Amino acid sequence: MKMMLETDSQHAYRNIDSGQCPGCPSNLAAKLVMQIVYQAADREGVEPIIFGQGCGIGRDLLQRSGIGTHDSACVGLLAAMEMRGIHRPVVVIDGDGQIDMGFDDFSGAFQQGHPYMHVVCDNQGLSASGSHATGMTDLLARVSSRPKGRLGKPDGRGAVRKQPAMMIKFSGAAYTATAAVSHLPDFIQKVERGLSEMPSFIQVFTPCNVNWGYDDDQSVTITRLGVTSGIWPLWEWGEDGFHRSLPFSHNNFRKRLGEYVRGQRRYAHLAQADMAAIEEYVLRLNDLVDRLERGFGGSNPSSA
Ligand code: SF4
Repeated sequence: MKMMLETDSQHAYRNIDSGQCPGCPSNLAAKLVMQIVYQAADREGVEPIIFGQGCGIGRDLLQRSGIGTHDSACVGLLAAMEMRGIHRPVVVIDGDGQIDMGFDDFSGAFQQGHPYMHVVCDNQGLSASGSHATGMTDLLARVSSRPKGRLGKPDGRGAVRKQPAMMIKFSGAAYTATAAVSHLPDFIQKVERGLSEMPSFIQVFTPCNVNWGYDDDQSVTITRLGVTSGIWPLWEWGEDGFHRSLPFSHNNFRKRLGEYVRGQRRYAHLAQADMAAIEEYVLRLNDLVDRLERGFGGSNPSSA
């Protein structure tokens, strides 16, 4: 275990990222979430309880209950705390592999309605074990278990990724959102809101330098291009309705999507027809987001 020092300016929770690669976006996301959660708890005079595990996330610090069981562990813990009159914020930080492996655990816990926040650092793969696909791996992206990037159907047709942040709204989430550290004020606002409207879920876009194949100083550039190209739309869905955090640009998305794809070796195998399929996928995804906003939109949108 690494040594963790606590001083006036350096808190032990900052070591959440010990063991992660330099420049890893989930490193930054996890550290920021911890900081916001601890500062909010400090104002209440309590200490938070954080569960989690991901690719390097909190190897030395976080509470663990086992793969795919963080949510039910929170439910058990919160039930015991309620019986004893204990009030401390409870938060999960983990990765997209955990959502796949524990979807019943995840959706069942939200259905119970206990007040906790779950943040997923989504790098679209099981990065810690060599980048196998998860249900969140994007269309045609190469992973170690599918070197040609043909995810899904046996004849090579692609399967699009799951949308757990949308799905969990129908399992009892009071607040659910997508976020990215390239859009920091929006990210901070969503984590703070997630703490005040529980149960809450935030799916954070966290590219992976190693398995997506880009230089580690390009993390913010790739993250920003993912958002501005529309392949990772930012939105939130709380009591005030569904709101996009950033408009989709029909005029510019193809250029930005091209830069996003060319910037990663996991797309190096794509042919021209593949690029058209990804563009179509982005258009359909953003059409879905627009329809959700038209159908469930309220009157108080925020902006990234
Ligand atoms: S393998 Fe990827 S997700 Fe894991 S710590 Fe390294 S850059 Fe981050």
